[in-house]
Amino acid sequence: MKKSSLILSLGFSIVFLGCAALKNNTLSRPAYVQAKVDLAAVNEDKVQVSLFPPTITTDEINFYIPQIVPGTYEYSNFGRFIENIKAFDAKGNQLEVTALDENSWKILEARKLDKITYWTQDTFDGPEGNEIYPMGGTNFQEGETFLLNLHSMIGYFEGMKNTAYRLSIRSPKNLEAFTSLPSISKSDTLDVFSAKRYFHIIDNPILYSKPNAVSFDLDNIKVGLAIYSPTGVHKAESYKEAIEEMMIAQKKFLGEANNTPSYDILLHLMDMDDLQYFGGMMGALEHHTSTTVVFVEQMQAQELTQSLVDVVSHEFFHTLTPLNIHSEEIHNFEYNRPLMSKHLWMYEGTTEYFANLFQINQGLIDEQNFYNRILEKLNYSRRYDDSMSFTEMSAGIVEEPYQSNYANVYQKGALINMCLDLIIREQSGGEKGILWVMQNLAKRYGTDKPFKDPELIDEIVAMTYPEVGVFFKNHVEGTTPINYLDYFKKVGLMMGETEVPLPSILFKDNQSPFFSPQPNKNGVVQYVVNGLNTTIEKMGVKEGDVFLGLDGKMLPEIKQENGDQINAVFSPSFMWDDKTEFSITVQRGEEVLTLSGVTGSPSAKTIGVVEDPAADAKAKALRKAWMKN
Ligand SMILES: [Zn+2]
Repeated sequence: MKKSSLILSLGFSIVFLGCAALKNNTLSRPAYVQAKVDLAAVNEDKVQVSLFPPTITTDEINFYIPQIVPGTYEYSNFGRFIENIKAFDAKGNQLEVTALDENSWKILEARKLDKITYWTQDTFDGPEGNEIYPMGGTNFQEGETFLLNLHSMIGYFEGMKNTAYRLSIRSPKNLEAFTSLPSISKSDTLDVFSAKRYFHIIDNPILYSKPNAVSFDLDNIKVGLAIYSPTGVHKAESYKEAIEEMMIAQKKFLGEANNTPSYDILLHLMDMDDLQYFGGMMGALEHHTSTTVVFVEQMQAQELTQSLVDVVSHEFFHTLTPLNIHSEEIHNFEYNRPLMSKHLWMYEGTTEYFANLFQINQGLIDEQNFYNRILEKLNYSRRYDDSMSFTEMSAGIVEEPYQSNYANVYQKGALINMCLDLIIREQSGGEKGILWVMQNLAKRYGTDKPFKDPELIDEIVAMTYPEVGVFFKNHVEGTTPINYLDYFKKVGLMMGETEVPLPSILFKDNQSPFFSPQPNKNGVVQYVVNGLNTTIEKMGVKEGDVFLGLDGKMLPEIKQENGDQINAVFSPSFMWDDKTEFSITVQRGEEVLTLSGVTGSPSAKTIGVVEDPAADAKAKALRKAWMKN
């Protein structure tokens, strides 16, 4: 998964050859679970689901909706989006169902069970939906779009996680399905899909929208991109070139470690109200052959392209880990009683590190841009507990105090991989790095062969050098913070003054806004300018000014309860391109001033990661091997 936040305060195909006539045999039921979803008859923003299990040979059976799904590291309790669950025998008589907890139900007289039916709520509105990441959620908008992450719609019967599913979806005529789930048949109003086991139901989200998709072949991989854009402004065709360039670069970087036959990108754009509803949360969730991405539609093409490159490259690298390199805990995922793996440093950390390294390696970005990305991770990692054991955090991630440190897997997790990469590069004279380790692990394991969780680190150390073992012991399993300067030194980098580009005109360095809340002499909290960037400096904003409004929208009183309104003033600026004209209103002394300007490329001087002019030839050679090999 990859999350990004706009809120400032946080900062195959199986063809079933079985003929339909077989179904007329009333004596035996099919060996698969038949699931029916009706998108053509939405009722009060709810969709009805019916499930027909194979013959059940026990007196009772439990039915489950996942508490947690792979790629997310928190309890989602999708059962809360299910209501009015009923069980029936073949004659239509109701059977008794009792709820066991939020996500599971017991069905009595199970030998007679013909079907269960229930209604599902979407997560894009309605109660508690904002507790689910939008990229892992569902959106029902009658006749307009349906985003189906099936883990909150379709469940599994006890002991049947490995049973095949056949999924029939009745859909409105004007909407087309886009998914990597293998299709058995399709028409304007009925799509039938197959899934080898329950996992494939949830590993292949489906996007229904008006036709807006492109597909293209990259050597031996078929790539598809579909976009739901509420106003129709974003066309899939416009993003084809950038995705193509990026994925060619990723394939070159991965070399033989990539064997994905197809990859589909489902991009669901939401409006500003949805963005507010999710507290500014956007991002993507990984799957074996696809990814769901949710961004806000108001992003300009330039911004959306860069965000797609950063986020989709992360998700595509997940085809390496955890998808091809994962432990037994992930392979035999327990959706309702999860055991977590210790190796988030790899699943998310290596993935995020590669999503940045491949860009410098393949020439998509320059050196300073790469160093600035490292700096950003360094700065953000300081918001989390630096002395928390990473393996301990990973194993306990669904509980506190680990859960609130989860986002550090994208920050320190990536930096851990940078350090490992530098140690292996140094020891191998520049020849090998963490990518070499991952390529070898992918050969040893793969989609169907998990590793043993407690053995992975020893295995990596045996493949590499004792120094790698020391690093894992101290800084990944252990609690000693990393001194990054020691690692920068190996490749001739140091901390020094540099000019960094900023994510928006609201920043004074790459993570803090140019203003901070301070009470005035009457105790009223105001936003006071405490730093500048090149854009606002040019407009005439001065340190000490009181920040009153942005682009004609005035800030409400600065207090917690007004968080949403404050964000509503700020969030449009994240969508601006470099030619947007805007104004800032400030108070200076007694005077209220409205200052105008153009966004341009805001930057600021800060202490950042720079090349050490005194670096020796060995360090420079290692730097080249690290970034360019
Ligand atoms: Zn991820």
